[in-house]
Amino acid sequence: MLDLSTVVLMIGITAIFAMVAMLYVWRVHHREVAVRYWALAFLGLGLGVILVGLRARLPDLITIVVGNGLIISGLMLMYAATAIFVGRRISWTVVVVVPLAASAGFAYWSMVAPSFAARVVLFSLVACVPWMLMMRALLADSHAGQRFVYRFVAAVCGVCILVAVTRAVATVLNPDIARLFDGGRIEAIWFVTAHAIVFFMPFGFLLMTSQRLELRLERLASEDLLTGTLNRRAFLSRAWEANPGWERGEPAAVLVLDIDDFKLFNDQHGHDAGDAVLQRFAQTVKPHLRNDDLFARAGGEEFWLLLPGVGLGAAKEIGERLRAAVEAAEVVYDGKPMRVTVSVGVAGLMHGNMSGAITHADRALYVAKAQGRNRVVVSDERVAAAAAPVDGDGLHG
Ligand code: GH3
Ligand code: MG
Ligand code: MG
Repeated sequence: MLDLSTVVLMIGITAIFAMVAMLYVWRVHHREVAVRYWALAFLGLGLGVILVGLRARLPDLITIVVGNGLIISGLMLMYAATAIFVGRRISWTVVVVVPLAASAGFAYWSMVAPSFAARVVLFSLVACVPWMLMMRALLADSHAGQRFVYRFVAAVCGVCILVAVTRAVATVLNPDIARLFDGGRIEAIWFVTAHAIVFFMPFGFLLMTSQRLELRLERLASEDLLTGTLNRRAFLSRAWEANPGWERGEPAAVLVLDIDDFKLFNDQHGHDAGDAVLQRFAQTVKPHLRNDDLFARAGGEEFWLLLPGVGLGAAKEIGERLRAAVEAAEVVYDGKPMRVTVSVGVAGLMHGNMSGAITHADRALYVAKAQGRNRVVVSDERVAAAAAPVDGDGLHG
């Protein structure tokens, strides 16, 4: 049989190692405030577990009240850090009050009315509070992109809750267990679970942190920072995933949208006014788009829009709707209203020939500009299909 007191000490030491590891994570990801709370959480957890492991060697006040109180504090901090990480509001009152109340209970059931069983039940149930709060924070459905990693940590919490509740029930049913480390199989499972916490939790927290950095970098590399649309590179590289039907010959349309006389905004009101127009333009277009549509700033005041599954006729209607929305949008800069319009060139995307489609949409756009701007012109589909150079005859407004 294992010497459980040694096992507990090793778990405490591992928690201290986890703290050291989290301090390194903090050094690398110093922008993530949560990481320093995770480090602090493992410190509390580690010290608490070590004190509990020294049960026979230190006074009960230290090992039972301070030790268990520190463990619960560490778990509450772990929840608080996780909630901070996922951007949920936390109540610091709860984070402070739960360990204090639990410590009062530990003091009562060790000094006033000593009962090991009562302490086990108290500890097992109180520990479920941070685990449940953590699960809730991690499973809230607003974390697209990190869901898989969040579920991993939530699953660890779930196992902890299951084991803790089982331990509490077993203790209620069999309250004769007199001392720590005497409890048999369920106690052994409990200690294995405690070990899993100090092993898997830091691992999960590190994954969460590094994955968030990866997502942030990926976003920086694919997004236009001014307008929040995709950039040209991301548009082109995502076009194939966004448009899986092109091999089956399903229609798709490409729109090139270019703000009319944009140079005037810069010239008359300054560069910031031009930037404001660009932002407002993107804000006006976005609500009209579906999830699968790709919208990118190709450069300057030119935007590209890919509409998967949309034929030329419907694409022209959509272009017209966007044109009207831009014309109707109120753009005010520095108290001065500005009239913004956009010209749109539309082309069909045939056989996945994206550069051909953009060339054709561009030429249609050129015609729209020549015809007086603030209008939508569709490139002739047959001409686009042949991916041959178009002349003015291939276009109709
Ligand atoms: P047209 O109706 O023919 O499209 O005329 P236009 O003035 O919109 O087109 P033109 O290509 O002559 O001018 C585009 C201007 O956009 C020139 C450039 O200084 C400005 N520009 C490009 N990128 C930005 C930007 O990020 N911010 C601002 N404020 N201006 C930009
Ligand atoms: Mg322009
Ligand atoms: Mg332009």
